[in-house]
Amino acid sequence: MKVGFIGLGHMGAPMSSNVLAAGHELVVHDVRPDAAAGLLEAGASWAESPREAGADRDAVITMLPGPSQVDEVLLGPGGLLAGLAAGATWIDMSTSVPAVADKVRAAAGPGHPVLDAPVAGGITGARDGTLQIFVGGASEDYLRMRPLLEVMGDGERIMHVGSNGAGYTVKLMLNLLWFASVTLTAEALTIGVRAGVDVATLRRSLLTSAAASHFLEHDVLSVLERGDFDDSFALALACKDLGLAVDLARHTGVPAEMSALVEQIYRRARAQYGDQGGQLLPMKLLEDLTATPLRLSEPQE
Ligand code: NAD
Repeated sequence: MKVGFIGLGHMGAPMSSNVLAAGHELVVHDVRPDAAAGLLEAGASWAESPREAGADRDAVITMLPGPSQVDEVLLGPGGLLAGLAAGATWIDMSTSVPAVADKVRAAAGPGHPVLDAPVAGGITGARDGTLQIFVGGASEDYLRMRPLLEVMGDGERIMHVGSNGAGYTVKLMLNLLWFASVTLTAEALTIGVRAGVDVATLRRSLLTSAAASHFLEHDVLSVLERGDFDDSFALALACKDLGLAVDLARHTGVPAEMSALVEQIYRRARAQYGDQGGQLLPMKLLEDLTATPLRLSEPQE
């Protein structure tokens, strides 16, 4: 397949590299040309603009920070939509919202199938081609593009979740719950430790209880074992996702007090540690505030 790929950051670089390795003919673009160096060496071609990245392609994937960049890349000067070949599919794998894609679909007409296909699994999943992918759009477009998605994701966890926009929604709800886990787990562990329970014992006890969570079992270990707050996913992006989730709550008329609070905690961490700080830094906020570092004395199994 002739594929275009726009957005070669933490996620887009390894994802596009898997597309190339699977034998697809690849054209890439990013506002940072140096982000493409490794891909060009491996055989991809460079496009000077999103518009150029769409010419002659069967499908073009975008993996951009959020809605404003997607809008600019699709509809701005030199935008992708103006260059997209007839019948070519646009697949947006960014964590975004339906509004921009709706605008693009309205401008493009029926000649350009559109899928939203945001992902979970972080840079490890992107590198290993094992991402979870939530796809919104028409079934026939999903089925036609599934082989391309399979080179980036785990076949068993590539899910068609509904019509256009459903993929974005599922992904935002996943991140909302995950970031809520980060903040609440930080509080539970800090309170427990300050009350005199050893952090390893506390975690082990919680893991064998009804309060167990994926976060407590896996991701929290990077903080507890290494003091690593995971800067492969930036606080600026986490705040963007939480803002979009809270917007969606407002839009759907759902009171979402907890979600709004989690968003504020993340915004506080971003103000404290900067845009590029790691997504687990809300745990450090509490560590700093209470002078209680959450660290294990020896690695866990
Ligand atoms: P990133 O900031 O590392 O990469 C974004 C890339 O887009 C950069 O290379 C940037 O130069 C490029 N870009 C920005 N504006 C552009 C424009 N106008 N034209 C062309 N290129 C432009 O972000 P990331 O971590 O790779 O995340 C990308 C998306 O995936 C985000 O929506 C994020 O929420 C989502 N996501 C990230 C992770 C993760 O672990 N990092 C996991 C799942 C989903």
